[in-house]
Amino acid sequence: MTVDSVSRERIPVAVLGATGSVGQRFVQLLADHPWFRLAEVVASERSAGKRYADAAEWRLETLLPTEAASLGVMSLGDKLQSRLVFSGLDSSVAGEAEELYANQGCVVVSNAKNHRMGADVPLLIPEINAAHCDAIATQQKRRGGRGYIVTNPNCSTVGLAMAIAPLEAKWGIDTMHVTTMQAISGAGYAGVASYAILDNVIPYIGGAEEHKIESEPQKILGKWDGAQFVDAGFRTSAQVNRVPVIDGHLMTIWLSLKNDPQSVDALIDAVRNFTAEPQALNLPTAPERPLHYIDAIDRPQPRLDRDRERGMAVSVGRLRASSLGGYCMVALVHNTIRGAAGAALLNAELLDAKGLL
Ligand code: NAP
Repeated sequence: MTVDSVSRERIPVAVLGATGSVGQRFVQLLADHPWFRLAEVVASERSAGKRYADAAEWRLETLLPTEAASLGVMSLGDKLQSRLVFSGLDSSVAGEAEELYANQGCVVVSNAKNHRMGADVPLLIPEINAAHCDAIATQQKRRGGRGYIVTNPNCSTVGLAMAIAPLEAKWGIDTMHVTTMQAISGAGYAGVASYAILDNVIPYIGGAEEHKIESEPQKILGKWDGAQFVDAGFRTSAQVNRVPVIDGHLMTIWLSLKNDPQSVDALIDAVRNFTAEPQALNLPTAPERPLHYIDAIDRPQPRLDRDRERGMAVSVGRLRASSLGGYCMVALVHNTIRGAAGAALLNAELLDAKGLL
């Protein structure tokens, strides 16, 4: 069954942290969303009480949507009219605020790290683990109401988990190592000083980035057994770097498999043919093909490939046998779209299609 994306009244939504990098992406992507309508914007006391146009220093490549410009920025904690709430809040405040709104009955679809590993909180990538939505009933029971939180993963984790998902499903991953080259937009506007990053690579990202990239795929590719999440169980390590690219996290991956795929072509076919529930449901933000395998020997590249399918497709290339055994590959994800605001929109579309809003 596909979902009719045209003839329906748009659901009013709120964006928490609407003035930030991720928040601005939400505002941009919601401007012409067929199902959701931006109704409320929330940020810090620095912004509250101002018009959105005055509070947000708009830095995206498209014009600030006119309907958003005149919205008044609300304070965090204000009572919301919208039941569906997207969060692009700074992690210093996201944990408590998201908890508050979920306990008030809101559906909180978050980008922040705070609740990702929660025992009954789905860490969703709809192409991989739509079945993890079954944990929502357990969470609602714990809260004693209709509200709940779902999260999307760290921006690099999204690209990594999507690129390896068809290989894990068919052959099982035994061990994996990933090295990321992450764009500066991933740190927010004020995140990395230009003097530090130009002409440079910084082999460290704070906030336990490597731990997130090692642990989150275990939950995403694991199972909800009806009572708890069970990890996928492969061994994994990550090294991260900040590089002077605006948008697009590139990563090189080495992995070994439990079962023999017989040929590299079989692996490439699995990547090329990967499709899942969001495509079958025809969700508005879903890419037609979640994974684009690119044959060219020097691709994917951030500048050339990050915008494929409006930034929602993950690009994969250079899949080959490694001289150490196992296989090497390269993956690329648009970190503020598929890795953040676009991922959250797709999560909310899945929840709506499943009757969970
Ligand atoms: P950002 O540009 O620094 O924006 C942070 C937002 O949080 C702003 O709207 C800010 O409002 C608000 N905020 C900060 N302190 C607040 C407070 N005390 N009370 C209420 N609101 C407050 O950060 P970002 O890069 O958009 O990241 C937002 C979240 O998404 C973070 O949790 C981050 O880890 C996560 N994330 C980011 C990416 C990415 O690629 N950037 C990807 C995945 C996940 P003011 O403007 O009023 O200060």
